[in-house]
Parts: sequence; C-alpha cells; structure tokens
Amino acid sequence: MINSTLKVYNSLTRKKETFKSINEGYIGMYVCGPTVYNDVHLGNCRTFVSFDIIYRYLLYSGYKVRYVRNITDVGHLLDDGEDRILKGARLEQLEPMEIVQKYTNGFHHMMSIFNTKKPSIEPRATGHIIEQIEMVQQIIDNGYGYEKNGSVYFDTIKYANEGKGYGDLSGRIIEDLLNETRDNLKNQSEKNHPSDFAIWMKAAPEHIMKWESPWSVGFPGWHLECSAMSTKYLGNNFDIHGGGNDLKFPHHENEIAQNMGSCNCQPANYWLHTNMLLMNGKKMSKSDGNTISPEELFSGDSPHVTKGYTPMAVKFFFLQSHYSSPNDLTDGALLAAEKGYSRLMQANKTLEKLSTTGAGNSLDAEINDIIKGAFDDMDDDFNTPRALARMFELVTKINSLKEGHLDINQVSQETLDNLKKTFHDFLFDIFGLQDEQAAAGGDSKALDGLMELIIELRQGARESKDWGTADKIRDKLKELNIQVKDGKDETGWTIN
Ligand code: AMP
Ligand code: ZN
Repeated sequence: MINSTLKVYNSLTRKKETFKSINEGYIGMYVCGPTVYNDVHLGNCRTFVSFDIIYRYLLYSGYKVRYVRNITDVGHLLDDGEDRILKGARLEQLEPMEIVQKYTNGFHHMMSIFNTKKPSIEPRATGHIIEQIEMVQQIIDNGYGYEKNGSVYFDTIKYANEGKGYGDLSGRIIEDLLNETRDNLKNQSEKNHPSDFAIWMKAAPEHIMKWESPWSVGFPGWHLECSAMSTKYLGNNFDIHGGGNDLKFPHHENEIAQNMGSCNCQPANYWLHTNMLLMNGKKMSKSDGNTISPEELFSGDSPHVTKGYTPMAVKFFFLQSHYSSPNDLTDGALLAAEKGYSRLMQANKTLEKLSTTGAGNSLDAEINDIIKGAFDDMDDDFNTPRALARMFELVTKINSLKEGHLDINQVSQETLDNLKKTFHDFLFDIFGLQDEQAAAGGDSKALDGLMELIIELRQGARESKDWGTADKIRDKLKELNIQVKDGKDETGWTIN
C-alpha cells in the first residue's frame, strides 16, 4: 500500500505540498554527500541522519526508493581557490586519493555508528568526469556556457534574462549574487559577470587532480558533479533532492541552472533542506572553539559536555527537532535525550511482555488513535518531534497497563498486536534507533534477570522487616536511575 497522504515542504515553491512521485510506487532521491577531506562533524551527521529517517519512512510507506548520495572528491574549492582534497593531501602529506579513502571510510564508520541505511548508489565525482565533460559541452552548445582561457563559465545573465529563474530556490536576486560564488576567485576577472560560475576549470601545472577535456587539462566545478550524477542515475527529472540549507546557494541554485542549461529540465520536483546544528545557541564553528566531534561527544572528552553520550542518545536528540528547524546541542538537552531514549527502550521491553485475555473495548480506540496520529505526523513533512511525542503517550499507556492503573483486558488482542508492531516499527525501522543494551551482548536479558533477583532480595528483606537492607537496595538503584515501584501484586522497575 502506497501512502498517498504524505506532504512535504518544498523549498523551491516555499510551500507544503502533497507528495506525488513521478512513477507510481517509485521514488528517486538525490542527497548531496560529504566532501571527504577531513573528519565528518556532528552537523553533517544531523543532515545525513535526517535524510536517513526520510528514506526509512518512504521505504516503510511502501515505495521502492533509489537513494543516491554522492562523495565529493574533487572540485569543491575553499575560498582561497584551493581544492579541499588537495589541501588535505598537502597538510597530511598523503596522496589525494588516500585522503579521499581515509575520510570516506571515516564517514561510513560514523554513518554505521548512527545506524543509518546505506544509499542505493554512492557515486564519486572523480568517477564521473566523462559525464561532467559531456554536460559542459551541452551547456556550451545550448548557449549558456562560454570558454575563457581554458576554463568554462556558466552564463548566469543570459540564463536569468531568459526568465529561467536564477535565484528562485535561494530567493536571491541576481544583483545580490555579485561576488558571492564560492568558486575560483582567482579567475573572477575573466568571467563576463561576477555571478557566473565555473563549470570547468583549467588546472595550474602543479595541480595534481586534472583531466583532459576539449577546453584544457583541468577539473570540473563542484556544482557540476551533482547535476551530472543525479541525471545519470535518476534521469533528467526525478522526485526529491536534498541537502543542508547552507547548500541552497550557490550549490543547489547552480545545479538547477546547469540542468536547465543542458537539457531544459528542472532536476527535482521537491527540494528538501535540513537546518543547521548549533551548539549552545551558536553556529558550530571550529575557528572559535564552538565545536565537538562525534568521538568527543561519545567519550565525554570535551569541555562542552559533563559526560559521554551514546550514539543512540544523540540520535534521539536529533529526532526531537524537525529536520527543517535549527537544533541546539547543549549538555542539558543531551541529558534529557538520554533519559527519553532509555524510557523508550524500557517501554518496548515492558510492552513485549504484556498479554491480554479480555475482549478489549474502552482502550482500543484511544490506543489506535495515538498510533494513527503518529503516522499522520510523519506524513506531515516527516515531523519526528511530534511522532516521538505520540510514542511517549504510548509509553504512558504501556506503563499504566503494566502497573495495573489501566486494565489490560480493556485492550483487545488485535489492538495489542497493532501496538506492539507499530511501537517496535517506529523505534527501530522508522527512527532507526537500536537497543544499545541488547546490542552490547544480549545484556538486557541479563539485566532483567539481575533485576528480578535484586527485587526478590529486597522483597525478602521487607518481609523479614529488615528495612535497612530494603532501603539500601532502593537507594542504590535510584542512584543508578532505576526506580523500583511497589505495586499491588508485584514490584516493577523502570530506568528513568
Ligand atoms: P560538506 O561536507 O561540507 O559538503 O557537508 C555535507 C552536508 O552536511 C551538507 O548537506 C551540509 O549542508 C551539511 N552540513 C554542514 N554543516 C552542517 C551543520 N552545522 N548542521 C547541519 N548540516 C550541516
Ligand atoms: Zn551536491
């Protein structure tokens, strides 16, 4: 069954729109991948985890998704005109391709730590030079590109004057674009207009990564790779294009111009942009020390946190804000996320053990409404914070059913089965969380057994009126954030 109620916020139209795929049941999705010249940072992780959840939800909704996420390994220049990969190679005294491999491996490792699914295709820019040269030629043939001294530039003025909408995505007008292009500033003077951008760059003799082309021995402009690779694997027009909102301009604006310039087609029907990860209210930035690496966050080895947080606690923290809102990383928010994550995992274990013999009735509609609400939230532009809040409404119900505040026999077998399945699916298939305790070697069974033993010992102490021992056990568990609850018939426990 394909979900037909999905709405997404389209950055191109600045509207929330009902999603309709080009081919029914199939989705083509392209997300700009990392430039692999240094370690992936937490901001990057936020963006890729967000698109992973979008990918997971589309798959869960029944679509066959071809998810293409590239690796940028050439052409992404720094403001001073140096290629990021070549700078990495220079600083670390490695081959450019060693830098690319090293940081691609690191990126993959981090993506697996965050339990994200691998994309269907992960093309590299250097593996698609021929396609990029062909696209430059098409752009020249169509009159939107011109050559100057071996470099080729995209003619933004001609394109804009034809009413093709240069600036539509980023909301900028052409006059504002002066001097704002990130590409080769050294060649600024040879452009016809400062907003024109390089699609092919002639390489200096000492430049290492360069290829033969009809115009010069050189290398492609950064924006070109995404146009060429999305077209190759998803066609001239595909469904979704994503990336961080810092890529709207110039990268995505220029991608659209290149696709329009080469085949007169809008590449993607829906443009989705993630917002930035902040830390303590400010943009994460290496230069002013307001930064933390994933490893520092996991180990707690940073002045910005009081302790280490597990990858799933961090992922839970990501889920708590909508992908298109800024997300502020603070120690307090992480502490709360850690608690929330562990309550969720604990509730799932509690739920697995619940059984009913009753015919159900009064609680069925309530539970099924919450479940439906969670799907509605995801259909509403993948609203994870609201869907997560629904999961916590279910956690309250689950704990009340366990403790007998709600009568389990007021829940039918069918509703209980639905609750177990959807709660599990949301946690593990849609949000892509993992039970870290269980993953650490089936510890959850051992923990359950240990807790049963401790509760029995405490019960024994209470029966023999050994209040000192009973209280000592309760207090020690409290220190560990484990709360013991004495019910009518049995004693339960939860991790807060
Ligand atoms: P880059 O490797 O710089 O090309 O970035 C890879 C992806 O991470 C892009 O989609 C960026 O928009 C995104 N990104 C970079 N910084 C942040 C941040 N602080 N928060 C969220 N996403 C980011
Ligand atoms: Zn891109």
